[in-house]
Amino acid sequence: MATAGLQVGGFTQMTTIDYPDHLAAVVFCQGCPLRCHYCHNPELLRRRTDEPLAWSEILDFLAARRGLLDAVVFSGGEPTLQRSLMQAVIEVKALGYLIGLHTAGIYPGRLQQLLPLVDWVGLDIKALAQDYPRLTGVPHGGESAWRSARLLAASGVPHEIRTTLYPAIDNDDYRNRLRRELATLGELTHRWQPCRESPGNKPDHDRSKNQISFY
Ligand code: SF4
Repeated sequence: MATAGLQVGGFTQMTTIDYPDHLAAVVFCQGCPLRCHYCHNPELLRRRTDEPLAWSEILDFLAARRGLLDAVVFSGGEPTLQRSLMQAVIEVKALGYLIGLHTAGIYPGRLQQLLPLVDWVGLDIKALAQDYPRLTGVPHGGESAWRSARLLAASGVPHEIRTTLYPAIDNDDYRNRLRRELATLGELTHRWQPCRESPGNKPDHDRSKNQISFY
């Protein structure tokens, strides 16, 4: 019986791109305290009091797909925002799935508790720690995200650190500084990802270059 009570705002039954080299389902957890300029899932940001998708039904689906899917990825929103994530991970792991986690790393304490249970982590490092407020629209988060990167490096859990090339940081000098800072944390796999536009997200590249200065 499902007990996690996870708030889920979306569910993808099968994907080949969200967990490296494995077929996965993706659970989009509801809620995120950040307000990144380039967010692709604005409908997932607000906390809700209702249950958009019943966790018990998702768990039933996953139980029925054992052997057909390899992994379940918890994404968002920000999955580690929810205290019930740990129990949800335990329930899915008990079904025999690999566990993937997409996170912005802003709750390093919860990430630390989850690391022994997860098989792969995609961690967003959005900028140098001091530049987070201008990119995420909230005053905190940078130090926590970088602390999560340090925890991930120490854990040995397979992972990918991703940095979205928002126009304001898409220059050689900034990219080099960020890479150098990551290198101080230990063994980490990092890649840049393009800043894509979506219906709810149309970054004005010229405007952002002019109005968001990280120097
Ligand atoms: S952390 Fe992710 S979900 Fe949250 S606002 Fe930023 S891009 Fe959107």
